[in-house]
Amino acid sequence: AGDSRYEEQKWHKRKKADLGPTIVHDEERCILCTRCVRFMQDIAKSPQLVVTRRGSKNTLSTYPGAPLDNPYSLNTVDICPVGALTSKDFRFKCRTWYLKSSKSLCPFCETGCNTIIQHMDGCVYRILPDKNEKVNGAFMCDQGRLFRKHISCADRVSAPVVKCNKNDATSTSAEESFDKIFAAVAEKSAAILKKDGPGAFGVLLSPYLSVEEAYLALKIFGETLKTPDIALINYGEGFDGFTFSDNYLISKDKSPNKAGISALAEAMNIKLAAPETIAANAESKKNRSVIFIGPSFGIKEFYDRHKKAIDTSDFVISLTTHFQNIASISDYIIPFLLWAESEGHFVNKNGLVQKFLPAVTPPGGAASPGNIETLRRLGACFNAKFEYRSAAEVFAEIKKRLKLFD
Ligand code: SF4
Ligand code: SF4
Repeated sequence: AGDSRYEEQKWHKRKKADLGPTIVHDEERCILCTRCVRFMQDIAKSPQLVVTRRGSKNTLSTYPGAPLDNPYSLNTVDICPVGALTSKDFRFKCRTWYLKSSKSLCPFCETGCNTIIQHMDGCVYRILPDKNEKVNGAFMCDQGRLFRKHISCADRVSAPVVKCNKNDATSTSAEESFDKIFAAVAEKSAAILKKDGPGAFGVLLSPYLSVEEAYLALKIFGETLKTPDIALINYGEGFDGFTFSDNYLISKDKSPNKAGISALAEAMNIKLAAPETIAANAESKKNRSVIFIGPSFGIKEFYDRHKKAIDTSDFVISLTTHFQNIASISDYIIPFLLWAESEGHFVNKNGLVQKFLPAVTPPGGAASPGNIETLRRLGACFNAKFEYRSAAEVFAEIKKRLKLFD
């Protein structure tokens, strides 16, 4: 190599300046374009970034002692033209050119931001905003990105599980085949139905259910079984520390599909009960069986409030995603897929119907039957017979029969 003719002394700046809980700044790479500064000022309406000092000592900074902790901070990583800002959650985890990108939606509040899920080998590495001027423009909040941790995590339900003896705290759980678990659910449910009638079943629906999944659940329990106790869990208060909202993107209600499920129930003439009713009915033994359908995050607050009541019921079935909260007191745990692994539609707070497609393979791999087939088999346990093979078939029937979501 030749000798450098540069004789001046180079200014060395910090390569890893910690700007806050989400972002690291490479001061030497930064070209001081102030895009990030203007984003925080004009879009996030929280001017947490400034350019300080003069001349060659110019650098990007936060105010002394104040971190960059705005819930939109990670958008600055996307708009930095030189990669000087890096996300603590993603930096150096994977070369970006190895990642596959799949269009999706964010399910963590009723805004329904459009997203791109970036993944490799079934693992989600990061979630980025996808441009949609009708919904989120070109941005999204940090929670929608960081809740990717719920997808690829260790406590996902990947196979059906039977709790061997519910009344024995030391009892272990055992994995079962889908055939055996549905046969057991059918047998036990038939016995309860014969003795106490349809009113013995209380059903808790998650507002994370897609339009198609909710339709099948309402068809099974509202139209066929005709239990009066079907409730939609309310995530109006938020969950997992995500309890705030603003006037930009983050909605107060953290339910991605409350509008869609409520519209379905109304069109099907099914009156939804309050979730507290199911808990009270379980405690009074009116609901001898409680059935929960949907992802387990979000039900935590309800479960914490009503754990004792639900645990009183004789028979708890969870079609769910994680071994958390209600799954821990369930007799039968049947795997359910997240939005990132399945197909369906959500209706956001403005009534916009948006479709999502699977991005990654579910934890059960090819053995996973998918949510439509799981609900078809659950329906068969309650004499609700339907033969849909895909979410598209279910959605076509909803449009034709209920004249919704055109
Ligand atoms: S956007 Fe990037 S290059 Fe521009 S000022 Fe911010 S950190 Fe520096
Ligand atoms: S604003 Fe809501 S929908 Fe958008 S990314 Fe955040 S949590 Fe997700």
